[in-house]
Amino acid sequence: MIKEENYSWNNWAGNQSCIAENYFEPETEEQIIEIVCFAEKNKKKIRVIGSGHSFSPIAISNEILVSLKNYRKLISVGKDSVTCQGGMYLHELYTILKANTLSFPNFGVINKQTVAGALATGTHGSGLKHRSLSAQIERLRMITASGDLLEINKETILKIGNKNLNILEAASLSLGSLGIVTEITLKCEPLFYLKSEESVIEFDEFLESMDDYAKRYEYFKAWWFPHTDKVYLFRAERVEKEQYSEKSKWENYTREQKDRDLQIDTLTTPLFIKSNADPSLIPEINAYCLDYFFTPRTKIGNSFEILVHDETIPMVVSEYGLPIPDGIHKKALKEFRDTLEHTEHKVHFPVDLRYTAAEESWLSPSYQKDTFYIGMCVREYREKKIHPSMQLFFDVMKKYNASPNWGKLSDLSKSELEERFPGINDFRELRNNIDPKGVFLNEFIKSIF
Ligand SMILES: Cc1cc2nc3c(=O)[nH]c(=O)nc-3n(C[C@H](O)[C@H](O)[C@H](O)COP(=O)(O)OP(=O)(O)OC[C@H]3O[C@@H](n4cnc5c(N)ncnc54)[C@H](O)[C@@H]3O)c2cc1C
Repeated sequence: MIKEENYSWNNWAGNQSCIAENYFEPETEEQIIEIVCFAEKNKKKIRVIGSGHSFSPIAISNEILVSLKNYRKLISVGKDSVTCQGGMYLHELYTILKANTLSFPNFGVINKQTVAGALATGTHGSGLKHRSLSAQIERLRMITASGDLLEINKETILKIGNKNLNILEAASLSLGSLGIVTEITLKCEPLFYLKSEESVIEFDEFLESMDDYAKRYEYFKAWWFPHTDKVYLFRAERVEKEQYSEKSKWENYTREQKDRDLQIDTLTTPLFIKSNADPSLIPEINAYCLDYFFTPRTKIGNSFEILVHDETIPMVVSEYGLPIPDGIHKKALKEFRDTLEHTEHKVHFPVDLRYTAAEESWLSPSYQKDTFYIGMCVREYREKKIHPSMQLFFDVMKKYNASPNWGKLSDLSKSELEERFPGINDFRELRNNIDPKGVFLNEFIKSIF
């Protein structure tokens, strides 16, 4: 097992860093248990790092950091499920699924996270019929603070106080605070094919029609280009495999457009860097990028080709979920747009607008409610200090009681989180019961519980 002292680590975005007294890369479950027992005995705190794709300080630790990069094998693949070790990367898992003509019903945007890391924060895609990746979990295996192995499935009930709690719904989105997840079984479905249409509409028209689109299309999300009043729509529906041929893969997609798309990072990176020194350039950059790169097009592809994308330009991201039924989500989005128009703050594209179905994980922002997510980013910004335009976003989201995505940036207090996450008190009770000495805490997790 690799072991290092004073190990320096930073996340993908570069806005979170730490120096851990001890860093471990275990190769066996016995070694993982050994590390947990070492921490317990020496009164040290542990955090597991995945691929560092969270923007929040959720993974950092100045004491013990554990990476499962040497614990990422496939265990088995069946006709409708797959089992792997916690450190496997999503892109490795997706390659295995594709080779077995399997898929998940939905995906987060990129594939660079680890499986256990993506599940720990409730990584989600978009579509009103679909829940986060955590909802696909059938079974988890975890090493708890006492060094014990805990096997958790849908039937696992734990008696905590006078309550019998179904703990898969806690462990499926645990912020890495219940123990080290070593194995996961996820439910799959047969690989499917999608026809996706991309087009532009006006912001006001979008506000009117967004929920109808979300009901009409199984996969629907949108990118608002702030300061342009334009929204780029992504709509996709399932099609038969026969429609999937090289010839029909793309329509309205010229050679010239393809060349432009290949250049997007090279052409836009200097612009984003410049715009951080002079934010008044952002409206023009957003408008230019929309016109130049985001032309309407139709694609046919398998679920991975349509729903999963490559890593993007470095950025920091915040995302909040809002309930849909009473229209609060539209009011919050409109207020963010109106507020931006009346301040000097400028926001890079895209403001990411997504939908998910209600789910049961206690710490999910979509807990028992269909949810609309608004995500905003600041590109090429690597500071720990919250960017002023992101603070403005936090302030609007706070007014509407929006619930944060745990992997992204937010600024809510313990009591504000308690108001937004009804399952948080049960989760705290379970956490304290499984980890009474707080082995799996860092400052961020402490501030929540
Ligand atoms: C470019 C980009 C795109 C993104 N797109 C989306 C998106 O579409 N939807 C969305 O919801 N989110 C998205 N995210 C956020 C991302 O999916 C989450 O933050 C995810 O948790 C990152 O996974 P990771 O492997 O990098 O874990 P890390 O960020 O390293 O860690 C996240 C948490 O997982 C815990 N953890 C990791 N491994 C284990 C383990 N084995 N046992 C116990 N705990 C563990 C860590 O302790 C930590 O609490 C995106 C992030 C980036 C940078």
